[in-house]
Amino acid sequence: MPRIQILSDTLVNQIAAGEVVERPASALKELMENSVDAGAHSINVELVAGGTRLIKVIDDGGGIERDDLPLALHRHATSKIHSFDDLTRVATLGFRGEGLASIASVSRLVLTSRFEGAQHAWRIEADHGGLNEPEPAALALGTTVEVHELYYQTPARRKFLKSDSTEFAHCEEAVKRLALAHPARQFTLSHNGRAQLRLLHGDLARRAAQLLGDEFVQTGVALDERAGPLRLWGIAGSPTLSKASRDAQYFFVNGRFVRDKVVQHALREAYRDVLHHDRHAAYCLFLELEPEGVDVNVHPTKIEVRFRESQAVYRFVLASLSKALAETRAGAVPAGVD
Ligand code: ADP
Ligand code: MG
Repeated sequence: MPRIQILSDTLVNQIAAGEVVERPASALKELMENSVDAGAHSINVELVAGGTRLIKVIDDGGGIERDDLPLALHRHATSKIHSFDDLTRVATLGFRGEGLASIASVSRLVLTSRFEGAQHAWRIEADHGGLNEPEPAALALGTTVEVHELYYQTPARRKFLKSDSTEFAHCEEAVKRLALAHPARQFTLSHNGRAQLRLLHGDLARRAAQLLGDEFVQTGVALDERAGPLRLWGIAGSPTLSKASRDAQYFFVNGRFVRDKVVQHALREAYRDVLHHDRHAAYCLFLELEPEGVDVNVHPTKIEVRFRESQAVYRFVLASLSKALAETRAGAVPAGVD
């Protein structure tokens, strides 16, 4: 047996990247979530070749101070939590401090940022983990991150990427998920120089109509139910939706898109009686509960959560949704009209 060695930081980051940055869309998700956490009102995304050549995210958030730029790219460095207590009540999308470090370890990453009130912006470049000193740069406000040539030095991983159009579709889906959770913020998306999405700020009904179709909103039912610390609100798609809108399945827990077995089971049960068996339910729903009631630190990409009281969550989602769906059949007010 060879002797035990401590892995280099770059290798540690590259190992983490395997989990956090599975494909361009996962890198894009990390970057856009940072923009949301920075308070950006406008998030513009430019992709080239499905994100494999370039992922560029431009925001107008609070920015990063010059001296913090190297730290932003450092593993386990974050401005979002300080203690274990903070971890039990995370209010930001990020908190693990590994997104940028992971991405930078498998690409050439350029981070340009202008801290609120600073005289000009600064730029730092990381090439597969190697950092240069920050240099002065021109940027009106906020932060711009460019990820060039994801996985170009890691051919084994690059092989797992699909065609540009498939990777683009995953990226577009990542934008949709975040944009549905943040209708008050503007999002744009372009691919190979062509505009793909232009979402002006508005409310959920308007954003959902743009992304999931007018029919989804007009025939769906708006709900807003509360029980103790739990709240479920959003739009439940009508069981009679035509084929086109049926793939819309969006469920958010405290603003985070998640896939959760408990929730999915409740949704299936609620729709079972009203839906033909060969059909899929469509929904865009938001579950809110006190941060202590849900553990978001279960999976590196945070797509899974663990509820403290999963039975209570199950019963609440099932009851709230069943009630709303019963009202659709009784001819309730559609979601678009209120
Ligand atoms: P995390 O989001 O978990 O903190 P990241 O590696 O994604 O970890 O980011 C590290 C830090 O860099 C963040 O905590 C934040 O302080 C800063 N940062 C990253 N992106 C932005 C951005 N777009 N605007 C402002 N600050 C940012
Ligand atoms: Mg982050």
